[in-house]
Amino acid sequence: MVFLNSALPATMFERWALPFALCGLWCGLVMPMLISRAEAEGVVPAHHRPEGGYRNLRQHDADPGALNVAGSDSRRRLWDGTKVWWRERKNFASWEGQEQLLPRHDVDTAALATPGMAPQVTWLGHSTVLVQYRGVNLLTDPMFSERCSPVPFLGPKRTAPPPLSLEELPPPHFVLISHDHYDHLDVATVRALGDQPLWLVPLGISEWLRKAGISADRIVELDWWQESRHRQGIAQVVATATPAQHWGGRMLMDRNQRLWSSWHVRIDDFTLWFGGDTGYDASLFQTIGRRLASPDLALIPIGAYLPRQFMRAMHVDPADAVKIFQDVGASRAIGIHWGTFQLSAEPIDAPPRDLAAASMAAELPVDAFRTLALGETWLLPLPPGVN
Ligand SMILES: [Zn+2]
Repeated sequence: MVFLNSALPATMFERWALPFALCGLWCGLVMPMLISRAEAEGVVPAHHRPEGGYRNLRQHDADPGALNVAGSDSRRRLWDGTKVWWRERKNFASWEGQEQLLPRHDVDTAALATPGMAPQVTWLGHSTVLVQYRGVNLLTDPMFSERCSPVPFLGPKRTAPPPLSLEELPPPHFVLISHDHYDHLDVATVRALGDQPLWLVPLGISEWLRKAGISADRIVELDWWQESRHRQGIAQVVATATPAQHWGGRMLMDRNQRLWSSWHVRIDDFTLWFGGDTGYDASLFQTIGRRLASPDLALIPIGAYLPRQFMRAMHVDPADAVKIFQDVGASRAIGIHWGTFQLSAEPIDAPPRDLAAASMAAELPVDAFRTLALGETWLLPLPPGVN
């Protein structure tokens, strides 16, 4: 400190020694302490990996072959998973010629074009659902293509065409995206919908959408528990990204670089919860049930669950789906993510059968958690207080 008080002119070294020392102290000691304290206090969310990308809150390292790539050795686990998949494929039920087991309804296009007062929900196959209420058309994970695959001539093919075309679809005001897998985020469908809807997406998907041609001002990208508010006509819409247990990636090199989520959406007095694609984690869904309003309607995946050892880290089975229904406190639900693309070993019609058995075992009210025929619309009761 002598040079600070000295009357002699300071040399360059003297002039800069203190700032350098302070800077070194800050960068070398204080900053790392602050960062580790912030991590310890949860300021950096636990589902953000320090090296970039995202991870599940619950690890599944005990599941041999599970394709849960949240661990640090994700490429090895991918290889292990691929080996299990290859070994198990001979045990897959054949869906060939079984398509008639997927119930199908003619779409009530008049009801879709001019919905009544009550909320209504229409299943368009896999995780694509149209929810309509108070003049709002909301679409989940829109997928209208023939195959869910990086290439148009290979990969899982639809068991039945979508019950209505994109041109016949009432123009959606909002689209919820759960994650970047091909059966949930389809580039041809995204391009066809374009800037018409507002795209609500988890972290990391905005950039992908912009590359697909969507304008930045038509995308809202959220982390888990972040919300965004919108006005659509007479309705107030509040969307919150909520957690899920899954993973992300479209190619080998982008694993878990984009977040996965479920969604909680309020349209005025009606509450929707979209489960996206998920494995089961009781604490995760019970937290959603505690923190947010109970859903009047939940959309919960029930398919792609066998072989269990391989799938359970990323996909619930109908019994787990019933637990989610109870955890989030839903009044009603429909089962999604089944019957459309064969991704797993169970027969095409097993999910609704197993769901009925699981609902009965859990003593849920009749038809509280049901499936819809492809193209079927379910008219829900008006939310309490609306007449
Ligand atoms: Zn997925």
